[in-house]
Amino acid sequence: MGLYRDEAVVLRTQKLGEADRIVTLLTRANGRVRAVAKGVRRTTSRFGARLEPFTQVDLQLAEGRSLDVVTQAETLAPFGQDIGDDYLRYTAGTAMLETAERLVAEEKEPAVQHYHLLVGGLRTLAAGQRDAGSVLDSFLLRSLAIAGYAPSFAECARCGLPGPHRSFNPAAGGVLCGRCRVPGTATPAAETITLLGALLTGDWETVERTGPRHRKEASGLVAAYLAWHIEYGLRSLSHVER
Ligand SMILES: [Zn+2]
Repeated sequence: MGLYRDEAVVLRTQKLGEADRIVTLLTRANGRVRAVAKGVRRTTSRFGARLEPFTQVDLQLAEGRSLDVVTQAETLAPFGQDIGDDYLRYTAGTAMLETAERLVAEEKEPAVQHYHLLVGGLRTLAAGQRDAGSVLDSFLLRSLAIAGYAPSFAECARCGLPGPHRSFNPAAGGVLCGRCRVPGTATPAAETITLLGALLTGDWETVERTGPRHRKEASGLVAAYLAWHIEYGLRSLSHVER
């Protein structure tokens, strides 16, 4: 049985039998991995709380026939402590974990950009300096971009005509010019389009200058864009207060 080491964020845990858990991990080098943590639900478990969602861990795993087995776990960053203390951070963080699991569809396919984006997003969320909803929206747009669904908020998504444009259509991949506009296209405020671009590039100065009304409108459009690209949408997004 081969052993390997990797860093990971715990995305989800499920009970297995009397005392074990299956942990779903986003690892740095091996992409999404599901592994068994034996005895983890016993109070005497040597893993303690290290294999809880949001925690960044350094792991040793043993390759198994169907699922790998966690043999060692050391905490790198206990993001769950600060995220779990606050309802807005918790619901935003849960949506981030679910997105990471959904967008990294294949097990053991390296997804190093997704990993670094998730660690950075959880660190920002845990620090509590930025609006949790905006941290989530920025994470969602950037995750979709890494997954190959980068939205366009400047040039027309159809013909490339330089903007600014005011029509936004999730199915078309972003904003549309007057000639490419199709029925059923939303026309958000110009400030909202600017905010969406800032969330995608991580321009926090612009994000923080934008008022709650446009942030809310942007969140709705991000959710629509995400739903278009993720089948069935995100369960956890419905718990995020907007
Ligand atoms: Zn166009």
